Amino acid sequence: MTNTAALLEKLRAGLSAAAIVTDPAIIAPHLEEWRARGVGNTPFLLTPGSVEEVAQIVRLCAEAGVAITPQGGNTGLVGGQTPQGEVLISLKRMNRVRGVDATADVITVEAGAILANVHDAANAAGRRFPLSLGSQGSATIGGLISTNAGGVHVLRFGMMRDLVLGIEAVLPDGQIFHGLRSLRKDNTGYDLKQLFIGAEGSLGVVTAATLRLFPRPAGHLVAMVALETPEAALELLQRARDETGALAAFEIMNRTSVELARNLPGVRVPFDPPPPWLALLEFESAVPDGFRDSIEAMLASAIDDAIAQDATIAESEKAAADFWSLRELMAAAHRTVKTPQVSHDTSTPVSAVPAFLHQAGAAVERLSPGVRIVAFGHAGDGNIHYTAIAANAESRFPAEQISAAVHDVAYALGGSISAEHGIGVFRRAELVRFKDPVALATMRAVKHAIDPLNIMNPRVLFEPD
Ligand SMILES: Cc1cc2nc3c(=O)[nH]c(=O)nc-3n(C[C@H](O)[C@H](O)[C@H](O)COP(=O)(O)OP(=O)(O)OC[C@H]3O[C@@H](n4cnc5c(N)ncnc54)[C@H](O)[C@@H]3O)c2cc1C
Repeated sequence: MTNTAALLEKLRAGLSAAAIVTDPAIIAPHLEEWRARGVGNTPFLLTPGSVEEVAQIVRLCAEAGVAITPQGGNTGLVGGQTPQGEVLISLKRMNRVRGVDATADVITVEAGAILANVHDAANAAGRRFPLSLGSQGSATIGGLISTNAGGVHVLRFGMMRDLVLGIEAVLPDGQIFHGLRSLRKDNTGYDLKQLFIGAEGSLGVVTAATLRLFPRPAGHLVAMVALETPEAALELLQRARDETGALAAFEIMNRTSVELARNLPGVRVPFDPPPPWLALLEFESAVPDGFRDSIEAMLASAIDDAIAQDATIAESEKAAADFWSLRELMAAAHRTVKTPQVSHDTSTPVSAVPAFLHQAGAAVERLSPGVRIVAFGHAGDGNIHYTAIAANAESRFPAEQISAAVHDVAYALGGSISAEHGIGVFRRAELVRFKDPVALATMRAVKHAIDPLNIMNPRVLFEPD
């Protein structure tokens, strides 16, 4: 009997029937990468309903020497959630809200809870969980923690790491780490929950988390601004931040990205033809009235000073949602492209975003003449999603060299090759090229200390020895 067949027998003896899935039709969607970049395989899918079931699964897998890949909403963009022979654990049945404390401003949820449902639960308690991204209808708290997700409100509220107060997780030997604290202050040695944030499933299975909540904004305003250059975007960012004190999101999109997304259903572009750059600004205030004046004044002065070409404010919630859908459908728009493409998730210091765009553009054009550049993202955080698309099917398009060149430019400007998506499998080789060797060796030492059998998502982060 093979290792996995014997393991399956033991799992059947200990788990509820609902926790074991062997039907290929049910398993199939869990093996498909969102952008169709590879299909995975797994002997079977496990869908535990409790932390105790997760602990039992991990302990039995460790005893059998069978590796595990955890999965949440399967929206990750670096291939870390796609098993290649590992047993797949989906947390989708562990999706309960365990409690909300509106006074302490915390919510405790299971790892399989979908982000949009956590928004609703916080809302129902008169509070707000501010992490927000295009995949929020599918991405789960466990996946968002494991990738240390960012999204559109990092400017004001930080990354997922800044929003997590406590974590419950199952360690690679099956022990349960009971770290579901809701304290703002707790200086009692190493902050072990941090190990699981951004670990991409390599140090254990996150089963629940306690998250920070915030007041809901009373005033809310969304504006779209037409710009000529990335330098102008940077100036607008500074003005919006300093002159309104209410900036919550600052996204930019280049013309090619807007042209790609504008034909998708539900998208409306307020400027026709689209300008070279569009900025999407969101403002929030604790008071309902009065803050619009400072925003209008800031936009008017930006136009007078030739920083902005034009600006429009969404006059209804529907109009605001329409502005956001243009930005949020950017990732989906890539799927309509039929020529070769290669994507990046770089960050640089915010002040270096224009230099990054110019230098990367020149480097990529040298490698692939006529290349189309789709550049958009969280400019307020220095995070640009940067995709090179071949001019046509016959064009020279050395994808690996293009990626290396884009990463070289970001790194030379003091940036990172992964701002918010993680390393996963797709960026492992580049991590070796750019991560400080001492940091990489320390990461390996941590992995070995916690997971000596290399059971937990063994293909992410590190190149095989
Ligand atoms: C349209 C679209 C827009 C996006 N926009 C953004 C954005 O703005 N900002 C951003 O940061 N990301 C963005 N992403 C990427 C993605 O949504 C995030 O990476 C998200 O955090 C993944 O959550 P998930 O539940 O789908 O995790 P999965 O894709 O299932 O898994 C991601 C990683 O986490 C691990 N993992 C999942 N659950 C657990 C668990 N319970 N315990 C341990 N490990 C686990 C997996 O093994 C894998 O390595 C976007 C993706 C799409 C498709």
